[in-house]
Formats: sequence, structure tokens, C-alpha cells
Amino acid sequence: MSRQNPYPSLAGKLLITTSADPFTRGLDYLYGARSLALDPEMVDVVYDLDKRIPICNWIANHIDAVNAELNACLQACHDCFHPWQQRTVQIFAAPLAQSFGIDGLCNLKTNPITILIDVGRVIPEDWLALVIHEYAHAHAGFPGHHQEFAKSLSHLCLGLAIAPPSYQPSMEASLRSYPYCHPTQDPLAFWQG
Ligand SMILES: [Zn+2]
Repeated sequence: MSRQNPYPSLAGKLLITTSADPFTRGLDYLYGARSLALDPEMVDVVYDLDKRIPICNWIANHIDAVNAELNACLQACHDCFHPWQQRTVQIFAAPLAQSFGIDGLCNLKTNPITILIDVGRVIPEDWLALVIHEYAHAHAGFPGHHQEFAKSLSHLCLGLAIAPPSYQPSMEASLRSYPYCHPTQDPLAFWQG
């Protein structure tokens, strides 16, 4: 029995890089990331006419290696669950707009579910922690930091040998930014090489 999915598949959209020009390929990538974000404006660097040139060139040359690392983190999360408990998830690195105040996001409305991670906002040692948080949203199937999310996150922490969340001072407050990640000074510096 097949069930009609209301959301078209966007898988592989970021991989369309037909141009030989690195800047164009990088810009294509950023527009692909916009199409997968909860709000396209979450990837606003396309409007920064000065910074987008070095950022797009950097993306063209380095994004495959970065995304390979994120996919390894994603696989580590998958491995905490039985195959039948795993959801189909795609993950990409993308610079996220400062105004949204987020390091990563999970878009449950795409098929597969999309996780976008701003690898420039936290130190590389904490990329896994960021992926764990967003993966917990993907697994719980909810955007909020409630009971189902707490269950998924605690299971991931157990599987990946990370201290479980404390739920202090409140569950919502402690889960919102758990596991803790060390922020970088300048989020866009990483994206410019
Ligand atoms: Zn969250």
C-alpha cells in the first residue's frame, strides 16, 4: 500500500552542480540549502554581495569533505537505533543567518527529513553534539523540546557515551541547547577558509 507524500522529494537537490565555475556551484549549493531550510531567509548569505564570493568559492572546493564528516555523525546517530526505528534523514552544512540565533535545524516537512548544520558556529569537535540534537528532533518527529524529544536525546546520549541531560532548571530550558557546544568567535570565518 502506498501513501501519498504531500512533500516532494528534495534529495540530491544540493548535489546539482552543473557549472564549471566554482562561484556558481557554491551559489547553487546555497540556493539548494535555502530550499531545504524551514524558511529560505535562514540562509541569507546569498544577499551579502561581498562575502558570498569567497564563501561560494570555499563551498565549491570544501563542502563535500565537510558533508562527509556530517554524514559520519549522522550514521553514528543512526547506529544508536534499530534499522526499523531509523528515519530517512539527509544532512548538509550551511551558513545560517545570525538573526535566527540557531546553529542547526531539522526540517520535518521535507522528504527525507533535512538537517542543516552551521559548521561555522561551533568548533569542529562539537559538530557531533549539534548533529545529535537535530537528529533527536528528526527521530522524535517534533520540533519542540518535549517528552518525545527528551526520550530520543537521552537514547542518543546513552549510545554515544555523552552525559544525559539534567532537566534543570526545567526540561524545556535544559534540552533546548543540549548537548552544549562551544561557539566560535566569527561564524562566517570558517566559511571563508
Ligand atoms: Zn532543538
